[in-house]
Amino acid sequence: MRENYRKLRVAVLGGGTVGAQVAHRLLDNADELGSRSGAGLELIGVAVRDLSAKRSVALPKKLLTTDPHSLIVGADIVVELMGGLEPARTLVLEALASGADVITANKALLAEHGPELFDAAAKVGAQLYYEAAVAAAIPIIRPLRDSLAGDHVTKIMGIVNGTTNYILDEMDTLGLGFEEALAAATDLGYAEADPTADIEGYDAAQKASILSSLAFHTAVPLVDVYREGITGVSAGQIEAAKRSGHVIKLLAICERRVDAHTGQEGVSTRVHPTLIPRTHPLAAARGANNAVYVEAEAAGPLMFYGAGAGGPETASAVLGDIVSAARRHVAGGPGVGESTHADLPSIPLSHVESRLQITLVVADQPGVLAAIAGVFSEHQVSVETLHQSVATTEEAGAQTATLVIQTHLASEERTQATITALEHNPVVLSVSSVLRVEG
Ligand code: NAP
Repeated sequence: MRENYRKLRVAVLGGGTVGAQVAHRLLDNADELGSRSGAGLELIGVAVRDLSAKRSVALPKKLLTTDPHSLIVGADIVVELMGGLEPARTLVLEALASGADVITANKALLAEHGPELFDAAAKVGAQLYYEAAVAAAIPIIRPLRDSLAGDHVTKIMGIVNGTTNYILDEMDTLGLGFEEALAAATDLGYAEADPTADIEGYDAAQKASILSSLAFHTAVPLVDVYREGITGVSAGQIEAAKRSGHVIKLLAICERRVDAHTGQEGVSTRVHPTLIPRTHPLAAARGANNAVYVEAEAAGPLMFYGAGAGGPETASAVLGDIVSAARRHVAGGPGVGESTHADLPSIPLSHVESRLQITLVVADQPGVLAAIAGVFSEHQVSVETLHQSVATTEEAGAQTATLVIQTHLASEERTQATITALEHNPVVLSVSSVLRVEG
């Protein structure tokens, strides 16, 4: 610890799952954290809504307050762990305006108001830290911001939502349907009473916006993130994926690529269920765990894996940020602003090239394959593989067969037009599944 350096005052806003853990560890490990920071750390209070609410760990009553505004006054470091947009946004702006460094785990706040908050921090030379906002315990923000600052990140594929990974993993390992797997996730506390934010991909989209902005030095607003959830994933698709050596994961994909229409470099950020080979490192992310796979020009592929939620786990990332903030105070100088110098345009999904796996139920009769091949060729989508299922079934009185077609890379615009044409082709009884393929 630097001799005679004054104690740094830490205010924690929120004493719930994460906040209580952070406060408890700050109190319990004060000496060690102080030694690592170079200055003593004094927890000056924890703002909550209800003073009498039961906490996951007991906190000294005298530290609890329902007045976060007063707590911010005089704090050197403010830790926002309340969640939601308001009053979190107002309080973070208040803290930054006072010159305090701010730490937040609030992905919704960053995805909606990131540029406003980073600007406010830059104005006063304060720093905004947010390691816990994506994939909780997994260090991914600091590696992208610092460790890879000398490299050129080209792509990130992340399993950044534990609830959906748990559901898809249960469907894959136990053969459950979506509703059954969701019920299991709810029973275990992985899914909330209203699971919309998780299963419709909103939570993953917020994290994708944060990762893309950071990795590509470009502000990527939430409205530029394409989003599809997992409610349409069926047990049949999971089984078919297994048969073809794949697994279905909800991926947040952030990619620096060329716009298929304009030929210009840009950023594509998207969240959707994706087929990946069972041998891909991301396929090993089981249960409610998170994993982030990063490709960088010089470093090559990197894989980050671990707990994406939980009080102590998230507190670990928050405490790391508190130590970083304290070290910065001791070292002096302004905070490092968020880098958006590349300012790349966002590429709409229709201008992105994807590989698709399309499953068709067709009439089993001569000329069908030629008709299907004609539809693909007419839309300039090239077929990589085609498998016809051995078993044929009776449907609507006719002999039918199932075709699983994997395309080469083709623009989403052309593949979507191909699917529409297939749906209207008389030999196609149904387009039973369409999934994007990565890896
Ligand atoms: P939580 O358990 O719901 O806790 C929220 C805390 O904020 C509670 O202590 C609550 O007070 C307090 N609070 C809410 N509104 C307030 C207000 N207007 N004034 C004063 N206090 C207020 O939430 P959490 O799970 O700890 O999550 C906190 C943040 O971490 C969120 O942004 C979340 O997205 C993020 N995060 C959480 C996890 C996780 O595993 N939980 C993982 C990664 C990131 P009362 O206790 O009195 O109600």
